[in-house]
Amino acid sequence: MLSNIRIVLVNTFHPGNIGAAARAMKNMGLSRLYLVSPKEFPSFEASRRASSATDVLENAVVVESLAEALEGCSFAVGASARLRNVRWPQLDSRECGQKLFEESEAHEVALVFGRERTGLHNEELEHCQSLVHIPTNDEYSSLNVASAVQVLSYEIFMAGRDEKATTEQPVKYAQDKLATADQMESMYGHFFETMEQLDFFGKRNPEYVLRKLRCLFGRARPSTREVQILRGLLSAAQGRKNKR
Ligand code: SAH
Repeated sequence: MLSNIRIVLVNTFHPGNIGAAARAMKNMGLSRLYLVSPKEFPSFEASRRASSATDVLENAVVVESLAEALEGCSFAVGASARLRNVRWPQLDSRECGQKLFEESEAHEVALVFGRERTGLHNEELEHCQSLVHIPTNDEYSSLNVASAVQVLSYEIFMAGRDEKATTEQPVKYAQDKLATADQMESMYGHFFETMEQLDFFGKRNPEYVLRKLRCLFGRARPSTREVQILRGLLSAAQGRKNKR
């Protein structure tokens, strides 16, 4: 469902790119634009480049952090101009369109784009469960950010069209609702707090441990209820420690 799909632009420098991205989205039936700390917005240049998609700009949600932009989402994909290490499952543009469209039938999803110069930082990718890389010329793989929005929005649109053409039932997800990004972030915070209280880290590097937990739960995709159970367990462990 296209209305369950957000396009998130992180720290965009040139307002013209925001306008061009809005236009690319509207052409492909997408309307929900989130801007994380844009350098300049609203802007005349953005509106000019948006052409007839100024409604997408008017309805854009401006926030300060990626975590805020992902509130309520159960799946997020980060778009990267470079192939990174294997910490994240990697999709190509076609697989990404199919996966996002399919998941959007069940819950809210997001596609996250980085800064013009430096892309997405690793701590931002930590909020995503997968990466997408648009296959390109090996010698020059970095697209303009609005062009990347165009390609991936097109793939989402085509995936929706193909789905309508087939009689197959959409993939069913577990009956429980998948946990959202904000619920996951609170759970990671709770893990960290509990592990500290239990003196779990010792010689271990907390950042490394937390990153591994993110990988684990990124693969497992727990439901809201499953997260509640885990947090209940953490609270119980904290309670015991306090009693001792
Ligand atoms: N020099 C930066 C490139 C940033 S391009 C870097 O190496 O990361 C701006 C944004 O456009 C990227 O953060 C990414 O979200 C998107 N993008 C550009 N080329 C892409 C590609 N080939 N595949 C997927 N996303 C791409």
